[in-house]
Amino acid sequence: MAFPEPLERLVQSLERLPGIGPRSAERIALHVLRSSTDEVAELALALRDARMQTQRCTTCGNVTLDSPCAICADDTRDSTSVCVVEGPREVAKMESAGVHGGIYHVLLDGYAPREGAEPDPSALQTLRRRVDDGLVQEIILATAPDREGEGAAALVLEALQGTAVSVSRLARGVPAGARLEYLHSEILAEAYRGRRNDA
Ligand SMILES: [Zn+2]
Repeated sequence: MAFPEPLERLVQSLERLPGIGPRSAERIALHVLRSSTDEVAELALALRDARMQTQRCTTCGNVTLDSPCAICADDTRDSTSVCVVEGPREVAKMESAGVHGGIYHVLLDGYAPREGAEPDPSALQTLRRRVDDGLVQEIILATAPDREGEGAAALVLEALQGTAVSVSRLARGVPAGARLEYLHSEILAEAYRGRRNDA
């Protein structure tokens, strides 16, 4: 028997989210039905506010309230040195490691072939434009050493082909398969200092 229409619509909306199959969509939808109306109102509001009140920095692609973001707008930072990361969480992680005095480029969507996701082509095009415009002299690839991170790194290197920009990657102090966001700041700082040339 089909669900009542509003529940069916919720299940279908949830199924369109990355990494959520029909079973999970159904489980989440039934959880929503058991939640208090206050909790559901809060969830709906959080979804709307996150979408309506944030934007992507026109320079680095990070998620921000204002564009350019605070990091790009900070003129004490070296705007010729760009650390390429997969998402906003990795920017925060690099910032807490306190070793990168430059700015960032955020791919936003990790390369997740199983989920059909790969870095936003426009993020790669913007990076290429930043390099072609002579605004960037050094690229530090700080994608995770797992399958998705390696895939993203390969796409970045491909987008930078034919440019003279210097490219380095975080040293192998980063354990294979580790997500940057879970790394201890000091390990990440070591990997940054020990970065090696690539490409
Ligand atoms: Zn920015």
